[in-house]
Amino acid sequence: MTTATETHKETLGFQTEVKQLLQLMIHSLYSNKEIFLRELVSNAADAADKLRFEALTNPGLLEGDGSDLRVRISCDAQARTITIDDNGIGMSREEAIAHLGTIAKSGTADFLAHLSGDQKKDANLIGQFGVGFYSAFIVADRVDVYSRRAGLPASEGVHWSSAGQGDFEVATIDKPQRGTTIVLHLKEDEAGFADPWRLRGIVKKYSDHIALPVELPRQQATGADADKPAEPEWETVNRASALWTRPKSEIQDEEYREFYKHISHDFSDPLAWSHNKVEGKLEYTSLLYVPAHAPFDLYHRDAAKGLKLYVQRVYIMDQADQFLPLYLRFIKGVVDSSDLPLNVSREILQKGPVIDSMKSALTKRALDMLEKLAKDKPDQYATFWKEFGQVLKEGPSEDYANREKIAGLLRFASTKSGTDAQEVALADYVARMVQGQDKIYYLTGESYAQVKDSPHLEVFRKKGIEVLLLTDRIDEWLMQYLTEFDGKAFVDVARGDLDLGALESEEDKKAQEAAAKDKENLINRLKQALGEDVSEVRISHRLTDSPAILAIGEGDMGLQMRQLLEASGQKVPEAKPVFEFNPTHPLIERLDAETDEDRFGDLSRVLFDQAALAAGDSLKDPAGYVRRLNKLLLDLAR
Ligand code: ADP
Ligand code: MG
Repeated sequence: MTTATETHKETLGFQTEVKQLLQLMIHSLYSNKEIFLRELVSNAADAADKLRFEALTNPGLLEGDGSDLRVRISCDAQARTITIDDNGIGMSREEAIAHLGTIAKSGTADFLAHLSGDQKKDANLIGQFGVGFYSAFIVADRVDVYSRRAGLPASEGVHWSSAGQGDFEVATIDKPQRGTTIVLHLKEDEAGFADPWRLRGIVKKYSDHIALPVELPRQQATGADADKPAEPEWETVNRASALWTRPKSEIQDEEYREFYKHISHDFSDPLAWSHNKVEGKLEYTSLLYVPAHAPFDLYHRDAAKGLKLYVQRVYIMDQADQFLPLYLRFIKGVVDSSDLPLNVSREILQKGPVIDSMKSALTKRALDMLEKLAKDKPDQYATFWKEFGQVLKEGPSEDYANREKIAGLLRFASTKSGTDAQEVALADYVARMVQGQDKIYYLTGESYAQVKDSPHLEVFRKKGIEVLLLTDRIDEWLMQYLTEFDGKAFVDVARGDLDLGALESEEDKKAQEAAAKDKENLINRLKQALGEDVSEVRISHRLTDSPAILAIGEGDMGLQMRQLLEASGQKVPEAKPVFEFNPTHPLIERLDAETDEDRFGDLSRVLFDQAALAAGDSLKDPAGYVRRLNKLLLDLAR
């Protein structure tokens, strides 16, 4: 493109994040260079969508260059250039500076700051980050962008130019046609890309599903390269129909994957997808995807979420987040409705029976897709769980109606699996329940290492009963909403007076009663000694090896939740534990036999503190504990 006059020329620096990203990209994508074309075509398609959308309310925008939107790709081997020209929405000078000089995504700086500096490792991360416009610099050592926003006068075009180092130039130019023309000046050793056949192949491979026609000059028979015609005849080389509108049976897996990359700005393949056309009272098509990697900003409040919304095939908006609940915010995809009005706005989307019923149907689709993945491809489901399991655990509280379905998708560590990997499904657990067991037992704590040998598990180990080990921060909160699975109640083994019901034999029960009678005196002495710090003292039937344990009161807040609230500076209601002891433990027998009341007091305090430590709690008076323990040790040495 010739640029007659340039005015208001200035040189600006890239935002630091862009510089880092450029560095990383150029070094990491050398094995997959050709994706630059996919990214630029994807941007042209987005630009066409945006123009069509704005033209709904402002038809004048389609002025002059008409409504036949397309992107044209040509190359010049001699000049070593590739030109990508679209007649979409275009950019104003300010937009070019903002969109091609900065990254607006929140959390980007954080993300980039945490890169390891090891280019191999970091290269994998760039995938989940999305590549975008800057991928042009993988093959080009200079990129010129000529653009003019639809609706602005021809004199308000912009020329953006950069070598992809520290800065870029912008100038105001005359640009008669609306839209964007990008000229890539190929690096010397990338000259091979300036080949029409190669470009055609790349378009077929990556951009076949793009709804916008991608045109290349019609190829002459070989030998006819004498004089080039002034204006080539353009030929559409992709299929150019919206992928989701085509029948499922005609769409290849590879096309689904490439389409995912276009809409998600993700670089890696999705784990699963679900494509559905709904007809009847409501009419819409949805195509939902499960990504393979959690985006770095999954927990950012303003991170991108939601589906790409089309109405009767016209693009309306990205990130329509009214169609799925928050706990499924990682799902990507498209929804195309025939019922919503073309002038639908975010406000209209907030409410209404159409949105409500679409949301509940899409939620079910998404959960079904995850169920299917878990059943058919457990390995891939394990990947999914690692990336998104924590988010799914928000489900039972947000979506009470689907909690049984969500529960079926949860995975936990357990005393049977013997590793900290969360791989036990509740259905597996139920299938393995022992005779007489009608409850699902679990224990929460700070880490797997901390809970795996907890004294609370002793009786379960003895009886061969599996206990789920819940150590994610969200778990205790999750369990408030998850009360049942498959008709079986959940029981926290650290809570209340553990009733093992039918799991305990008549003999067990008789022995317990006898022990309780026998130890009545000890119970009273312990109550005296521990006083205000306990709500109750009783005989335990959950211990085999440990002398004592602290049980949480039935209605009290668990330790994990308490610590969480305390850490966030909130006031936590006081709750006293129950002191339970093992009547047959030698230390308890020794305690029972102790006649010196001072020493009895010290010993029971030490046992109480030890039980708190074993539960992962911190001591109110650690120095007192050490003093008492040392005193007892000295007595022993005497
Ligand atoms: P993304 O597509 O994920 O937004 P890109 O890096 O690919 O990120 O593009 C950055 C931005 O530059 C786009 O969001 C868009 O605003 C603008 N842009 C890029 N290419 C074009 C184009 N051909 N026409 C209009 N705007 C464009
Ligand atoms: Mg893009």
